[in-house]
Amino acid sequence: MSETQKIENVIIVGSGPAGLTAAVYTARANLNPLMIEGEEAGGQLMITTEVENFPGFAHGVTGPELVAVMRKQAERFGTRYITRNVTKVDTSSMPYKVHVGNEVHLTKSIIISTGASAKYIGLPSEKQYMNRGVSACATCDGAFFKNVEVAVVGGGDTAMEEANFLTRFATKVYVIHRSENFKASKIMLDRAKANPKIEFITNTVVEEVLGDGKSVTGLRLKSTTTGDVTTKNLQGLFVAIGHQPNTKLFHGLLELNEVGYIKTKPGTTYTNIPGVFAAGDVQDAIYRQAITAAGTGCMAAIDCERWLEAQHA
Ligand code: NDP
Repeated sequence: MSETQKIENVIIVGSGPAGLTAAVYTARANLNPLMIEGEEAGGQLMITTEVENFPGFAHGVTGPELVAVMRKQAERFGTRYITRNVTKVDTSSMPYKVHVGNEVHLTKSIIISTGASAKYIGLPSEKQYMNRGVSACATCDGAFFKNVEVAVVGGGDTAMEEANFLTRFATKVYVIHRSENFKASKIMLDRAKANPKIEFITNTVVEEVLGDGKSVTGLRLKSTTTGDVTTKNLQGLFVAIGHQPNTKLFHGLLELNEVGYIKTKPGTTYTNIPGVFAAGDVQDAIYRQAITAAGTGCMAAIDCERWLEAQHA
């Protein structure tokens, strides 16, 4: 094991909009941050084509472009990058240790911004049509589906919320759920049921996403009760079967909520460990937007800067 002797002021783990914003702010505060950006740097924005709702881009921007400009901006103020995955975090004594394979980086503080990943059904055709009719974010992509028919898969609050939202654009929204029992809260379910543009298809799974090579043209559906296979012609599929926070590294280390998101002290980015802050989707199951991630990344940088100052570190 090689142990670099330098003690960093702050290590940022994860490089989506939360981490990159934390990098811009900590770099401009002269903390000379080290970002360990991961092998799939950039996070969920890297699989997003058009971003039309990030303020400052009047004509929209692609997800990868947005990440690239944020990264450049953070680099301009001295952020250093390691494009590898963190393998272990040890906060048992100060300085904290962040392991990257057999390298160990010492640091006074850590900002965690490892994000979350949308869960997908797992069909090859779903992957093939990703961003070409298949999406996991109605807020991001709903506006691309004006005057067409779409489907939402899932039976939780996210599926109900996305279905309702999509009725602003689509002529019809099918909610496809694998059983008749919904995880969604009664109020959200009732609202979706009362929406005349929404039709429920229960006890049904998506067996295949159909397309013409360029975009989605329909779905092949299978009944979980009778086994009957049917085809539905439509132009969009929104997968709303949950998200998985990327917190595997922090199990047993940080306080997580019952579904695995990092718990932060309300209104701040403080975790239960002093000097460890969390920003972005890794601590947010509700908003999950690039702009809210960036906002909490800014909060983490300010919390971290003030915390370091208070330690006279
Ligand atoms: P949930 O875990 O609540 O629901 C996931 C849904 O997807 C379930 O109906 C589940 O079915 C279904 N599902 C899971 N895997 C598959 C699969 N492979 N194929 C088909 N269907 C599948 O996730 P949500 O994202 O809906 O919600 C997460 C949390 O966020 C919840 O606590 C929710 O209340 C909260 N939330 C709150 C909102 C609000 O209050 N405004 C808005 C959005 C989310 P099954 O039931 O059969 O397991």
